Amino acid sequence: MNGQPPSDEAAMEEAIRIPLNKPYIAGNELDYIREAVDRGQLAGDGHFTRRCQELLEAQTGAARVLLTPSCTAALEMAAMLLELGPGDEVILPSYTFVSTASAFVREGAKPVFVDVREDTLNLDEQAIEAAITPQTRAIFPVHYAGVACEMGAIAEIADANDLAVVEDAAQAVGSRYRGKALGSLGQLGAFSFHETKNFICGEGGALVINEAEFVERAEILRDKGTDRQRFFRGETDKYTWQDVGSSYVPSELCAAFLYAQLEQIDRIVARRCEIANTYTDALRDLAEQERLRLPIVPDHCETNAHIYSILLPSSETRDALMSHLREHGILAVFHYVPLHTSPMGKRLVGGTPAQLPVTEALAGRVLRLPFFPQLTAEEQREVIGRIHDFFAKEGSRAR
Ligand SMILES: *Cc1c(COP(=O)(O)O)cnc(C)c1O
Repeated sequence: MNGQPPSDEAAMEEAIRIPLNKPYIAGNELDYIREAVDRGQLAGDGHFTRRCQELLEAQTGAARVLLTPSCTAALEMAAMLLELGPGDEVILPSYTFVSTASAFVREGAKPVFVDVREDTLNLDEQAIEAAITPQTRAIFPVHYAGVACEMGAIAEIADANDLAVVEDAAQAVGSRYRGKALGSLGQLGAFSFHETKNFICGEGGALVINEAEFVERAEILRDKGTDRQRFFRGETDKYTWQDVGSSYVPSELCAAFLYAQLEQIDRIVARRCEIANTYTDALRDLAEQERLRLPIVPDHCETNAHIYSILLPSSETRDALMSHLREHGILAVFHYVPLHTSPMGKRLVGGTPAQLPVTEALAGRVLRLPFFPQLTAEEQREVIGRIHDFFAKEGSRAR
């Protein structure tokens, strides 16, 4: 992720025994890859791609879900489908991964960074209206840590101003907002199956299409600008070049791996929630003493427990706790460097940089704890114990 500390620093300290993340193997991955090989189709859009897409369509209720090689590719397709380009502005949080912005910036559209909410670190819906201009075409909300943005308010603002909504739901597969699947609430949504996410296939993603009018063109953009999908369905007797496009179809081998993960969505989420609840129970005393803040999940948001991040009172405390854990072989990390403070972000926004006080105040205080389904009770106890040690020592120094 952008913004992790350099690894040579780690080499100077105790080797990492408890990493931030470990790719989780659900069980049937290798069997399904073998089955894909036996079936004899390794290029995309075969048996396993269809099964993944059907499962995700059932899960989201989308008009269509198309697997892609990454969430970045799905966001790029969304920018192409909306025909975002020079002269257009897109509203998004600055506290996000690069791809949320780069997907439409490469089409020539301009990012307009808006602040985040203090509680969820999601796009602040109350700050959106002030950022709308006659050039605004779309809002790209990001569901940070798998917790939903205020999609009701965002949809109202979008409708009133005739803007499209593209959900960066990279982290939010399986999460819900007022009972509805994330990814299904904008015109378009994008999922990630990168190895750092909840459900993985190495590198992978999906475009969630909630408005049927986009489906036909999405199939063409995804398949090098050709109508090959129509040809496969027997709707035309040859396929030809129809439109712009790129190579956005992932291999069947990735889809086979992914299917083994998606068929376990509920089990994987349940396990992640269990680990999150253990952290929360064990750190509640420190939260009550205002030594740290626990993750906030509003009641109407059902989370897939993607990230477990705590908020420290200052960046100095955050960095000191991060070093303390590192010295004991535990990798906890910060997260995004806000895009409006990055070299590219500054170039794009020009002379008057956005004033994003909440983003700037919180980005330096976030600490993500080791969080993956295989984390053992013993390892988790150790992480929790080291956090308590840190504050016990800090408390005695302060006295
Ligand atoms: C991981 C992530 C992406 C990029 O996903 P890829 O599949 O690696 O392209 C985009 N946006 C957010 C918010 C992410 O967390």
